[in-house]
Amino acid sequence: MSRTLSCRDTTVLVSDGRDRRLSLEELADLRGHLTGCVRCQAAREQFEILFRGIERYLHGDTPDAPIGRGTDV
Ligand SMILES: [Zn+2]
Repeated sequence: MSRTLSCRDTTVLVSDGRDRRLSLEELADLRGHLTGCVRCQAAREQFEILFRGIERYLHGDTPDAPIGRGTDV
């Protein structure tokens, strides 16, 4: 066991995990915290939904995301 993550650290790692590959130690810490923390489990699910929505938007798969608007990308 390395260290105990706070809920804040956990959300940061979850969000970082989208941009970079987490180290094994970070993943272990993350998993350890998520196992015991219902709040962070819920938060991670929200993240997943959010990021999936963003990806879908970026790939233009939804009817609400007109292709070619691209002003803020
Ligand atoms: Zn937590």
